[in-house]
Amino acid sequence: MRGQIHPVNSQRADPRANDNSAVPILLVDDNAGKRLSVKAILSPLGYRVVEAESGGDALRALILEDFAVILMDVRMPIMDGFETAGYVRQRVQSELTPIIFITAQDKAEATNLKAYDLGAADFITSPINPAELRAKVSVFANLYLRAEQLSERARELQASADQLTLLTEAAPIGIFRIDADDNYVYTNPSWTEITGIAFADALGRPLDLVMSPQTRSPIRGELPGTAGSRSTWSCRFEVDQPADMPPRIVQLTAQPLLGEDGAGLGWVGTLADVTADTAAKAAMVAARDVAEATVLMQNNFAASASHELKTPTASILGFIEEVLDNEFLSEDDRKILDIVYRNAQRLSQLIDDLLTLGQADIDPSTMRAEPTALVPLVQALVSSFSAIASAVDVDLAFDPVPDPDVESPVAFADPQRLEQSLTNLISNALKFTPPGGRISIGISCADEGGSVQLTVRDTGMGIEPSAIHNIFDRFYRADSVMRTDIKGSGLGLAIAQRMIAAQNGKLCVTSVVGKGSVFTVTLPAAHSV
Ligand code: ADP
Repeated sequence: MRGQIHPVNSQRADPRANDNSAVPILLVDDNAGKRLSVKAILSPLGYRVVEAESGGDALRALILEDFAVILMDVRMPIMDGFETAGYVRQRVQSELTPIIFITAQDKAEATNLKAYDLGAADFITSPINPAELRAKVSVFANLYLRAEQLSERARELQASADQLTLLTEAAPIGIFRIDADDNYVYTNPSWTEITGIAFADALGRPLDLVMSPQTRSPIRGELPGTAGSRSTWSCRFEVDQPADMPPRIVQLTAQPLLGEDGAGLGWVGTLADVTADTAAKAAMVAARDVAEATVLMQNNFAASASHELKTPTASILGFIEEVLDNEFLSEDDRKILDIVYRNAQRLSQLIDDLLTLGQADIDPSTMRAEPTALVPLVQALVSSFSAIASAVDVDLAFDPVPDPDVESPVAFADPQRLEQSLTNLISNALKFTPPGGRISIGISCADEGGSVQLTVRDTGMGIEPSAIHNIFDRFYRADSVMRTDIKGSGLGLAIAQRMIAAQNGKLCVTSVVGKGSVFTVTLPAAHSV
């Protein structure tokens, strides 16, 4: 049957030879019996044998695919093995395909038969020695498998190289490569966009080509190649641009490329336009400076204005007291003066608070910290507030009552400022706790004795979650409080927090609306300082 190609199912031949089934062998012989016997010899190797019963069939098979080796009978009618081999060699795809000629003559004679001119890889004489045939075919099959693996690897490498090139070309950041002498060998389109220099103009030119003359000289000595550096190199500079263009600041980062022997092959790097970033940072620094100066000015103003207000307010209070002492004052005038007096007192309190806050803000170093026993300090406070507490029907107590046998915690704090801070917390607790409520003050050690804690716990109205982060701000009062007629300046907690912070302490709060609040003061323990 001319013109037919018969692949052999090699899977059955050797179950271990799965990979070998990918190796195609072309067997060209006009004699079906001889083809059968060659296939039988090769079958243990598991290769895929494609049969061709003439030179013409062989050439057609070669058009369809490449073969690891061609086993070619020399004596065939119409087109003999050598002639077929001649055509095989003429095709570029098969010019290197190894051919093993099967000849009835001995090898020496076959050599004379110009076979070597046709690039024959080997000869085998008929009748065929099975072991010899298998050995020869295996050599070429292995070479074929190895070549296939290499070309697969090459295809993979090419694919990832293509992907990398695409990524580099499309990257929104400048990418470049320089050789060991700091000369450009590659730049991507974004690099050109940033620097205004086309790749062709950069090629072979030095790295500092992109730097403006002012930035070039200080950086020159530090260029990666010049400095012989072997680690990441980074610098920020102004790009060389025409005078009428606004300055452009860039950040360059380069990474060394090292050969297997550790020798420097050059550098790859990125170039990012950070002009906007730099301008934004400069603007932020300027804005912060202005804000700080304004706050300082405000504080100074508040402190000095309060100071100036203090004297006249004290004098107003003094004069009103004198007039109130006048027994001939009419009832109506007394009522009016009482209102004036209370308001003047509030004004005086506000001025005091502002002055205290100003001091805490301006100079925290005025704190005079010393070992301060907490139990006597709190006991004194509890007794000084007890009259007010019972007047508003609130139970104020130390809780738990300190055991005289247990050593009292000692904080490293400024006793006066601490007392003032606690006074503010207790006043608040009294203000915001309705009659019948309870305020308890506790003392404990924390951080394995490294710090001490004072808690002021009340069963008052509590603080809504939306307000809790603002209550330490100056002049802040929660909305729920603003809706009541409870008076206040919104300065008490701001003062307490700043004073405690100036003593290296912390003031925190937890609160549940309708249930009460807990203010916790944490201070360093005296022995830990
Ligand atoms: P003032 O008490 O003069 O309003 P503060 O700075 O002392 O100002 O307190 C700020 C705000 O924090 C108060 O107006 C109130 O909303 C809230 N607050 C402080 N302490 C308590 C408390 N113990 N219970 C409920 N709310 C409190």
